[in-house]
Amino acid sequence: MSLKLDGKKLSLEIEEKLNNYIYINKTMAKRNPGLAVIRIGEDPASGVYVKNKEKACSRVGIKSFIFHLKDTVEQKEVEQLINKLNLDKDIDGMLLQLPIPNKFDEQRLISYINPDKDVDGLNEQNIGKLVKNESAMRSCTPAGIVNLLRSQNIKIEGKNIVVIGRSLLVGKPLSLMLLNLNGTVTMTHSKTKNLKKICKEADILIAAAGKPNLIDSSFVKDGAVIIDVGIHRLTSSEKSKPRLCGDVLLGDVIPKVFAYTPVPGGVGPMTVTMLLVNTIFSWQKQFGLSSNLNDLLP
Ligand code: NAD
Repeated sequence: MSLKLDGKKLSLEIEEKLNNYIYINKTMAKRNPGLAVIRIGEDPASGVYVKNKEKACSRVGIKSFIFHLKDTVEQKEVEQLINKLNLDKDIDGMLLQLPIPNKFDEQRLISYINPDKDVDGLNEQNIGKLVKNESAMRSCTPAGIVNLLRSQNIKIEGKNIVVIGRSLLVGKPLSLMLLNLNGTVTMTHSKTKNLKKICKEADILIAAAGKPNLIDSSFVKDGAVIIDVGIHRLTSSEKSKPRLCGDVLLGDVIPKVFAYTPVPGGVGPMTVTMLLVNTIFSWQKQFGLSSNLNDLLP
């Protein structure tokens, strides 16, 4: 029977450790860690993600500060808010909830975030440190995936790993993290020729294309590990409740693989947990607290 890589369970285990860590160290720091979330506009999915982050923060003892701005706000005003939060001594981490409306220069806003507070790990400095394999904030979804693999002692070193997708948010940083851990990584994308043939060589196949059910069993080698990053809400009719699925046709693939991540309950919960880890990592650095989080930041 194939092994389910249960992100929900692992994220609860990590949260318990984080909760203890804050409890033990808050006297020395004289305050709890703080996370600021900037949301612009009314994208409903963003509203749900921000609420989930707020709830996760409160479970472990991180104070969250939510800044919900109207989409009529100017780029300059958002930059000023970021600068203010960069200087705020009660805030250890900050993120811009994506996507934001098109009129904003997203990359410029992210580059304004102090790299030490960049808990999404998307700032050039943190990406640069990842390229150089130096310790830094790591982007959350890729770091969560590495922790899921490690939690079941799935070896990365020397394995053929195929990553589908080359986005700045997932595919690129994930490929770099796996390369730093001595995997033999092939990064594929929408212009890749013979995708199926390449995927069939993978010991670990990671689908982050954002295309529902793209990967069926014909893409997968017997005994491979399959990680499904995609999240899609599919509705069969206007009245029916949306059903969540990933990039992988799981029912077809599970009988063939050694291990897989479910959707929901696989990669998603780990993404939020890594945001908490990054916030506490920044708090720990600021107050010179003892470190037991480095293992979680690949
Ligand atoms: P994106 O649209 O920015 O990037 C998709 C990438 O996939 C691109 O590099 C593109 O070249 C590649 N691609 C698209 N179609 C392809 C195809 N047919 N064959 C090969 N490559 C193809 O998306 P993203 O932000 O990287 O997110 C990818 C998916 O992961 C989305 O479904 C998103 O919702 C999900 N996601 C989940 C989490 C989580 O926490 N679980 C976090 C981030 C993103």
